[in-house]
Amino acid sequence: MDKLEIETHSPAETAAFAKSLAEKAEGGEVYCLDGDLGVGKTVFAQGFGSGLGITEPMASPTFTILKEYHAGRLALYHFDVYRIGSEDEMEEIGFYDLVGNPEGVSLIEWSKLIEGILPKDAVHVTIEKDPEKGFDYRRIRVM
Ligand code: ADP
Ligand code: MG
Repeated sequence: MDKLEIETHSPAETAAFAKSLAEKAEGGEVYCLDGDLGVGKTVFAQGFGSGLGITEPMASPTFTILKEYHAGRLALYHFDVYRIGSEDEMEEIGFYDLVGNPEGVSLIEWSKLIEGILPKDAVHVTIEKDPEKGFDYRRIRVM
């Protein structure tokens, strides 16, 4: 995917951007979502899910690490690796079976914590705040 940078001014705008990416997904994509706590990674994931046709409510799978959704056009494998102790634990939760699987799309919140095992062709989405630009401002870089 080409490098892309956008600015949003509401959660709805961030979700809409993610939704537009989901509508183009073909399966096998891996989106790494990074940025501080509360920056909007889960908002992005929710928008992405809606773009696949998932209507179930989605929250960060902080305690389970993984939540799968199968009601959409493609499966969605939503990881939140914030509480992972080591990269080795990812095998137990089925990471290697799901990531890059052509039947679904993977979203990985806090991917930097498992940097060493991410696929080389993963798309990196970094979300940042800028206090000078207001509470709801976010800069989203895709690369
Ligand atoms: P994370 O998963 O990164 O910890 P969440 O997505 O759970 O963060 O929370 C993001 C919070 O920021 C939500 O409360 C959301 O309403 C708020 N927010 C405000 N502005 C934006 C924006 N432009 N994009 C995304 N979220 C925003
Ligand atoms: Mg989250």
